[in-house]
Amino acid sequence: MIDPFGRAISYLRVSVTDRCDFRCVYCMAEDMVFLPKKDLLTLEELDRLCGAFIRHGVKKLRLTGGEPLVRRDVMWLIRRLGEQLGQGLDELTITTNGSQLAKYADELFAAGIRRINVSLDTLDAAKFAAITRWGKLPAVLDGVMAAKQAGLHVKINTVALKGVNEDEFDGLIEWCGAQKFDLCLIETMPMGEIGEDRTEQYLPLSLVRARLNRRWTLTETDFSTGGPARYVSIAETGQRLGFITPMTHNFCESCNRVRVTCTGTLYMCLGQDDAADLRAPLLASEDDGLLDRAIVEAIARKPKGHDFIIDRRQTRPAVRRHMSVTGG
Ligand code: SAM
Ligand code: SF4
Repeated sequence: MIDPFGRAISYLRVSVTDRCDFRCVYCMAEDMVFLPKKDLLTLEELDRLCGAFIRHGVKKLRLTGGEPLVRRDVMWLIRRLGEQLGQGLDELTITTNGSQLAKYADELFAAGIRRINVSLDTLDAAKFAAITRWGKLPAVLDGVMAAKQAGLHVKINTVALKGVNEDEFDGLIEWCGAQKFDLCLIETMPMGEIGEDRTEQYLPLSLVRARLNRRWTLTETDFSTGGPARYVSIAETGQRLGFITPMTHNFCESCNRVRVTCTGTLYMCLGQDDAADLRAPLLASEDDGLLDRAIVEAIARKPKGHDFIIDRRQTRPAVRRHMSVTGG
């Protein structure tokens, strides 16, 4: 699949549920209303949908959410997709908040997953409870260690939050260095109403990087996962540190990805509202002809880039949907 700007689309992110066992302050309002269960595609339908994308050239699949590991029987889907590894699919990964990892780490490895992203914004239990509202740090740390033990490569994703975790990046770098995890820092993005003012949360990573430079020897690398992160290597730990800066750096030129939600809506860009409905063609027939056509038509309208509003005084979100709909 080549889009109108010559970008090969080889990466699909699938949000398998919009539900979550946490309520992170930058992601959701505490009283989030979730989709009625009947609107969700079944796991069998998600499997078929992913199969169609793999036929169209998707090589890398990431399951996300909401929290992917809270969807009932999600391991069935993961095992099914794992069977496609080496049969067109090169990599199957997940992004998780880690709360269920202690339970699932071995099964994930057995299904063919080799690397996972775990979102962790702080190593301080009280702050963790404040950021996630409902999360418990020890359970997540147990999960991360179980993943490591199971042989999974762990990358930690940390959202940089002004006045909340900005004093902790040195500690996170040290901890990740000791555990041999890579770390990626992310700027907050204005997605969905969260019942709070986002300008209070925004911390530009240019500032963070300038501060980190005083303590760590950071060297530019050309390492890329085909995504928006710019990586440096940290001489003192030997690990990589990524920066995802959607607000201050435009990462769209090399975008290789699209996102599908648990209701079968395909978003061609994280920062745009345009979407294609794949549920109707998926359910209309057992034959994939209609679905294939809908996918090809949608890729043909993938936009050039996002419209995140750089003016931070703007308090309304740039896109209406929450990150938990498309999974980041
Ligand atoms: N629940 C899983 C997790 O937390 O890893 C997967 C879904 S979560 C929506 C995916 C990633 O998006 C997480 O790393 C989270 O920190 C990030 N995220 C959520 N809302 C965000 C926002 N408004 N701006 C930037 N990152 C956000
Ligand atoms: Fe849940 Fe992930 Fe959103 Fe936090 S960031 S509320 S863990 S979906």
